Amino acid sequence: MLRIGITAIATTMLLAGAAIAQQPPAAPPPPDFSKVEIKTTDLGDNIYMLEGQGGNITVAVAKDGIIMVDGEYAPLHDKIKAAISTVSNQPIKYLIDTHFHGDHTGGNAPFAKDGVTIVSEINVKNRLAAGTTNGLTGVNTPPAPPDALPSKTYTKTHQIRLLGRVADLKHIENAHTDGDTYVWFKTANVLSTGDTFTNGHYPNIDFANGGNIKGMIAATDVYLKLTNAKSRIVPGHGPLADKAALMEYRTMLVTARDRMAKLVKEGKSEDDVVAAKPFADLDAKWAPSELAARNFIRVVWHSLADKKETRKGAT
Ligand SMILES: [Zn+2]
Repeated sequence: MLRIGITAIATTMLLAGAAIAQQPPAAPPPPDFSKVEIKTTDLGDNIYMLEGQGGNITVAVAKDGIIMVDGEYAPLHDKIKAAISTVSNQPIKYLIDTHFHGDHTGGNAPFAKDGVTIVSEINVKNRLAAGTTNGLTGVNTPPAPPDALPSKTYTKTHQIRLLGRVADLKHIENAHTDGDTYVWFKTANVLSTGDTFTNGHYPNIDFANGGNIKGMIAATDVYLKLTNAKSRIVPGHGPLADKAALMEYRTMLVTARDRMAKLVKEGKSEDDVVAAKPFADLDAKWAPSELAARNFIRVVWHSLADKKETRKGAT
């Protein structure tokens, strides 16, 4: 009996040691929000692009209220509201989350407290409520509190109408995440893409939470059909874009997918492809750092090499 008892204690200690060794890495420190300034760009027809810290924001003014797309981080709420008040004194009625990532949804709770209706595709709410793990870094994001969850969700398509303003929301399956929404303000010829489009550098693809490069390319195909040479495209990150920039981005994605598909077919592992640097000629234009270049290789490899069951399991 004693022997069993000692073995049990030893096993428990071993397990405890393993648990400590496997603790997920800590999240990076948050940015210094006190230094952030909000830049406002007039896109015409009472629509504005706001840039602060995190994902770009679109502000569409109607005669009886405002529709916002993405809300950056909670500590920027007052600065964002101040920037909006310089272009309109209408109340903000809707805030659309393009996907669940914190640099786009951090503002949910303070805007909801103002009475704003938070709208998203259903998977955004599910992911925020459950908490998530970053497939690249292993960093865990805990479940969001109830007041930070979208109060209105949809699947496939949704339309928001205010006086003199229509926002068409559509879901793109398995692109940047599994809950992406793009917003089309047709009469204004303005498109807000969320992170399915990053203008000027490699995008992140959240493969551990339903993202896939195939969906990213499918998204650009949809956008190229909607837009024309005069369209103004608000990307999730990067400067205001036009159709030409979107086409360049699509060409890069297709090149990356085709090259990686060949390597995956040859049975190359994640480490193999990172070492092979298959996108080296694209890095000068699209990779702001060596880490960004390596991460893009990894997310494209996971997109094409992971079994669907593995991706689901990783969430
Ligand atoms: Zn994102």
